[in-house]
Amino acid sequence: MLKGMSPESVNQKPASAGGFPRPVLFISRCLGFDSCRYNGETIRDPFVEKLKPFVETGTLCPEVEAGLGVPRAPVRIVLHGDRPILYQPATGKDITPDMLAVTEAFRNETQAGEFDGFILKSRSPSCGFKDVKVYKSDGKDPRNISGSGSRGTGFFGGAIAETFMEKFGLPVEDEGRLLNFTIREHFLLRIFTLARFRMVKESNTIQALIDFHTDNKLLFLGMNEGGMRELGRITAAYNKKNLADTLDSYEKELKKTLVKPPSYKAMINSLQHAFGHVSRDLLPKERGFFLNLLEEYRDERIPLSVPVKLIASYAVRFDNGYLLRQNLLSPYPPGITDITDSGKGRDY
Ligand code: SF4
Repeated sequence: MLKGMSPESVNQKPASAGGFPRPVLFISRCLGFDSCRYNGETIRDPFVEKLKPFVETGTLCPEVEAGLGVPRAPVRIVLHGDRPILYQPATGKDITPDMLAVTEAFRNETQAGEFDGFILKSRSPSCGFKDVKVYKSDGKDPRNISGSGSRGTGFFGGAIAETFMEKFGLPVEDEGRLLNFTIREHFLLRIFTLARFRMVKESNTIQALIDFHTDNKLLFLGMNEGGMRELGRITAAYNKKNLADTLDSYEKELKKTLVKPPSYKAMINSLQHAFGHVSRDLLPKERGFFLNLLEEYRDERIPLSVPVKLIASYAVRFDNGYLLRQNLLSPYPPGITDITDSGKGRDY
């Protein structure tokens, strides 16, 4: 194990918290776990703080792991010729080999399935996974930085995204992007669904998989109808000899199904489907009220949680077993997020 990787929290079996599974997240250590930033400070990110009681965490500071102390002079990505290097202008040190070694060790030592998601420090030349400043040099001496030329990925964060997001289909975000309500909600949907699936794998029974699929049908319908059908097909194709293969295929398809945030059209389709389970027991006025809510949701005047809560209240009122078990009605612990966002608005 990397010497700086927090050992207390990795490889732990995610226990249930208030009926919810506990996702296992990797988080950049300076996001509220240690004062390891270049200036000796930490960053208390409100969302990470809210998450902490509900998740298991593994943390690392790649710069400290690469041998830089705290405090330290800042490092930058500098395009030296056509090769980006991780450079500390104040000392003239090229940190690239040490950082590549840390990154490689992390990739080699992290088991597939160890984490359900990643939260990285935004725009850091080490941890950032997108939109990181890349400075230009004169091509002869990296000390001759001539300004910030372009944007790229941090050395560690870029490798995390390449391996765990692109190859393994896991959610990778930074605390800046998670200010956006849509991105935050999608991230939460993914990590809690993946944590639930982790429990299916641990139980290693077809019944657990069937229950998981049934519990998530409306959620999947609202995210990716094609994915939902393919997941159903994989479950139905099970025969007694191939549980491991079935779980493996299901997990791969599940990650693909969850990759994109739900479109409002698909989510309205799912909500209408849910409504069909209770509508005949409602008064015409109540039916009209719900359909108006869907219009408001379509027009981005109310968040998804409003029609979802109304469906949940009908599920309780009519004791509708099918709806009550749907994770769409309660995909992650209440109070973990709120509707305030970065002002970028909802893009679905
Ligand atoms: S951004 Fe990454 S490398 Fe920089 S202080 Fe935070 S954990 Fe360490």
